[in-house]
Amino acid sequence: MVRNSGSGKRVVILGAGLGGLYIAAKLKGFDITVYEKRRRDELGYPWYDAVDKDAFKKVGLALPSDTYTNKQVLRFFSPSGCGYISQAMRASRNLDVDRKKLIEFMLQLAQDNSEIRFGVEAEDLIIDNDNVVGVTINGRAEYCDLVIDSSGMFSKYRKQIPQRFCMNDDIGQYDFLKCYRGFYSKTDVAPAPSNVYLMPEHYSVLWCKDAENSALSDVLISKFATLDESQIKEALDYISKRNPYISDNCVRFAEDSIPVRYPLATIVANGYAIIGNAAFMTKPTSGSGIENTLKAAAILADIIQKASDFSAQSLWQYAVRVNNSFGANCYMSYIARSRFQNLNKDDLIWLFDSGILNESLLAFARLDIRNQEAFQLKSIFESLSLAKSRPDFIKQIRIILRKSAKGKNIASRMPRIYDEDAIRKWKSEYDAFARDI
Ligand SMILES: Cc1cc2nc3c(=O)[nH]c(=O)nc-3n(C[C@H](O)[C@H](O)[C@H](O)COP(=O)(O)OP(=O)(O)OC[C@H]3O[C@@H](n4cnc5c(N)ncnc54)[C@H](O)[C@@H]3O)c2cc1C
Repeated sequence: MVRNSGSGKRVVILGAGLGGLYIAAKLKGFDITVYEKRRRDELGYPWYDAVDKDAFKKVGLALPSDTYTNKQVLRFFSPSGCGYISQAMRASRNLDVDRKKLIEFMLQLAQDNSEIRFGVEAEDLIIDNDNVVGVTINGRAEYCDLVIDSSGMFSKYRKQIPQRFCMNDDIGQYDFLKCYRGFYSKTDVAPAPSNVYLMPEHYSVLWCKDAENSALSDVLISKFATLDESQIKEALDYISKRNPYISDNCVRFAEDSIPVRYPLATIVANGYAIIGNAAFMTKPTSGSGIENTLKAAAILADIIQKASDFSAQSLWQYAVRVNNSFGANCYMSYIARSRFQNLNKDDLIWLFDSGILNESLLAFARLDIRNQEAFQLKSIFESLSLAKSRPDFIKQIRIILRKSAKGKNIASRMPRIYDEDAIRKWKSEYDAFARDI
């Protein structure tokens, strides 16, 4: 392990998820310690995650070829469980990345550049005169020049930041999905289709897809805010009935929470910056956060390398660049998704079961503008023109479009220059619009 001494500045990173590890790998010339509350062998998850093909290349990472496979084509079912569409074009743009191997790869990069202390839970921030100056570890003060909070969605540190920096947001019950992911033996090892069930009763998304050479079925159950044992059982019954090759034998499982909220408005304070799930950088439509977290780490590393000090003012350009890069789009997607969720269920079912829903319309629903192959306006309008017989539905779609555009506009008006009054004013509009949607 090589410790940097370059500038002599000391950086403490809280959490060795992908965000914490990547920023630890990127920073050059600092004395860096990463604190991770879990043991090394507990990091990562025993499953594959969908990530855009170019996500790693864009931040300059060459992912080893044994860490991913091509993404399976998913069939998205309507809330009735009958009609569905396949997403072949989208699948061709994504990889299924082995999370354990990805974490191992990132650990190697980060370890060359920092000290990683596993099994150590950081306690509280040390704040002096509105400046974050360190953190307590095992009751002892650990002073540093900058704390990078990469401790995940339930970060307790956000709340400890002085109010003037506007990042003490509460987490609401619709800000995250509780997830259960179980791997079940199959009664038939022939490859089975990958099925995603959208918004069946009480749930947000359920899916089953093949894992590990079709020997196992990878089952995901997700629901806003809470997910208890009886609900998991109910959802498993729903999936098994439609996919009878899934046996009762659960080989392994994990439970976690995925943030699906709009991004935090402000992500810096004096001596403090926040990254990844802790700042709600996941895409609100899917909960995918790997790509955005890596982008944010690359931006933050660049700002830190150039900053003369770590005041909120110096770090503010990190917030601005994140907002430009993906933050404003995530906010717009959150607005669109929240309105879309409120569509009349009959309309949603009709949309799928009538057969007019296609990849273009789905790309539109996700505002996946970058998916140029799928996001075809002509096809979207053709589909929507078939909806003429449903004027209320058309009205709702217009509202979604109008509100999404307004959302993008509000998010993009983030103050470019650090001015606490202007930031406070903007943040209150940003939060109010999202909360009232
Ligand atoms: C079930 C599930 C499925 C997902 N699927 C996808 C997908 O398909 N595609 C995709 O792009 N993204 C997916 N994501 C999201 C993605 O995992 C994250 O957005 C991304 O990895 C960024 O994570 P992070 O580093 O910000 O936080 P995390 O991964 O949450 O890491 C935070 C780390 O901080 C540690 N920690 C917390 N508190 C402390 C403390 N006090 N002291 C020390 N350490 C602490 C935690 O132990 C943890 O290791 C999924 C997430 C889940 C849960």
